[in-house]
Amino acid sequence: MKNKTPFSTLNRGEIIEKMQAYTHDVLVIGGGITGAGIALDAASRGLRVAVIEKQDFAAGTSSRSTKLVHGGLRYLEHLELALVHEVGRERETVHRNASHIVLPEKMLLPIIKGGSLGQFTTSLALYVYDHLAGVKKSEHRRMLSRKQTIEKEPLVESELLTGGAVYYEYKTTDSRLTIEVFKKASEYGALAVNYLAAESFVYNEKGKVCGVNARDLKNGAQFELKGKYVINATGAWVDDLRKLDNSLKGKRLHHTKGIHIVVSRKRFNLNHAIYFDVGDNRMVFAIPRFSIVYIGTTDTNYTGDFANPNIEKADVQYLLNAINRISPQAKLVMDDVESAWAGLRPLIHEEGKAPSELSRKDEIFKSGSGLLSIAGGKLTGYRVMAKSIIDLIAKHLKKKEDRKIKKCKTKKIALSGGDFSFKPETYKLIEYADRKYDEAKQTGISVEEFKTLFYRYGNNIDAITNRAFDIRNSEGQAHAWLKAELWYVVNHELASGLSDFFVRRTGMIHFQINEIEPILEIAAAEMAKLLSWTEAEKAAQLSDFRTELQASRTWE
Ligand code: FAD
Repeated sequence: MKNKTPFSTLNRGEIIEKMQAYTHDVLVIGGGITGAGIALDAASRGLRVAVIEKQDFAAGTSSRSTKLVHGGLRYLEHLELALVHEVGRERETVHRNASHIVLPEKMLLPIIKGGSLGQFTTSLALYVYDHLAGVKKSEHRRMLSRKQTIEKEPLVESELLTGGAVYYEYKTTDSRLTIEVFKKASEYGALAVNYLAAESFVYNEKGKVCGVNARDLKNGAQFELKGKYVINATGAWVDDLRKLDNSLKGKRLHHTKGIHIVVSRKRFNLNHAIYFDVGDNRMVFAIPRFSIVYIGTTDTNYTGDFANPNIEKADVQYLLNAINRISPQAKLVMDDVESAWAGLRPLIHEEGKAPSELSRKDEIFKSGSGLLSIAGGKLTGYRVMAKSIIDLIAKHLKKKEDRKIKKCKTKKIALSGGDFSFKPETYKLIEYADRKYDEAKQTGISVEEFKTLFYRYGNNIDAITNRAFDIRNSEGQAHAWLKAELWYVVNHELASGLSDFFVRRTGMIHFQINEIEPILEIAAAEMAKLLSWTEAEKAAQLSDFRTELQASRTWE
């Protein structure tokens, strides 16, 4: 039953013991996409690296984004050409290295009468975007007439339209991307643990930061972890840690909140992902996925609790108004909203600028104690951000220890689940998934259910398929795949609770919320078995997760 991997919950105690045994070259606080990227970059260059995360991996902003790997078309408006150039080009790399979870998505940009973008400006902006972002020819923008736009997306009000454009972005599941990066980093020897918090810093006799006092939130144990370089990659919490280090001077973070709402395709059956003008100088996405469409985002100043940003009714209404403006026939009302999520942007404060005018560029701050903090940036740019901070450390280490440190090679490292022997053209991936389905269908799984799993786990699907066969043989067919998936995330993805599974490992809370309740008790019983929970622990897990489900449906 026990299949221990470097990223298994059953192995968590051993990972923590190992973490305490060494002085790491790099000790990272924060297990979002930034911390994950740093772990992979450092470990693949031969550095000893450890990452600690006080919640679950990706429980911060990295599970609460618009879930696009994109070049940031709207940054052109603020003339952030370098940013578009960098993250735009990065899209292709992220797609190539994780083609099972970073998939091309045709985006329709309707051009609206009296909107901020006309036919000429849209065509020009997309032309510049294609060239700056190095978009491959087959995915260059295509301008559409009014008639073609109406045909493509009949839900957009024809009276409002003057034309449209189609361009490509990539859709992903942000938390899964983060976890696939961590899994690959752990294959290279990185140590990463969730539910382990940095509580204070440890300094050497020269006042330089050389570690953290950590607390294991699973059992309350406290211990010291040591690192030659300590990186603060805590996203929204970056300034809290700088404060702990007494180095919160100069540039500060400015937190803004973005929410997304989810409506059923039974109420709003959009054919295409659309990116449209809201009429207040902002653009909003509406993206179909499974049987829902999610719509976002907002951008408002935020000063509340970072772990649980609230969903405000006014924000929900703003997004409903945006849809009802572009598609008056939809007539969406509050009751149509099935769920929502809120995330925080840790942006760099700039005096006098409105939230949506603040740059999305990342920055590294070095404090007098040597603490390196990295903030801002995008999910899309995680690899380049990681490279820049590890390049900095590698330069220092080389000088200090006369050590040879390899150059960054993450551009060519396929993430866990994304290592295919073919280039990631979509049709080849579809053929591969079909072949895998042929191997799995005897277990009684439907093609839709199998494809959902395939696009979650990529070529790691084999481990789940084999497990499903074993379970079917020993326990019968009922829920064999759910049990196999739970086994996989516990043994290979450090999942240790219902929220880890339904929110960050599967994204079901966002895309398939109505499918959770029928399997919730079964999932709880299976996790209890895998993790040896007592009845009381199982009941607490169910109660906490039901509260989380309720929160995702509550706005005031
Ligand atoms: P986080 O994911 O927040 O990770 C920081 C982690 O640090 C947290 O998990 C936290 O628990 C942990 N932590 C804090 N304190 C401690 C401590 N003391 N000890 C241990 N751990 C600690 N980017 C894109 O490219 N595409 C998009 O479509 C997109 N959409 C977005 C939409 C919204 C609404 C928002 C808010 C952002 C969006 N972004 C997007 C940006 C992107 O999501 C973020 O840049 C990225 O997720 C930030 O990752 P991070 O790892 O820096 O922060």
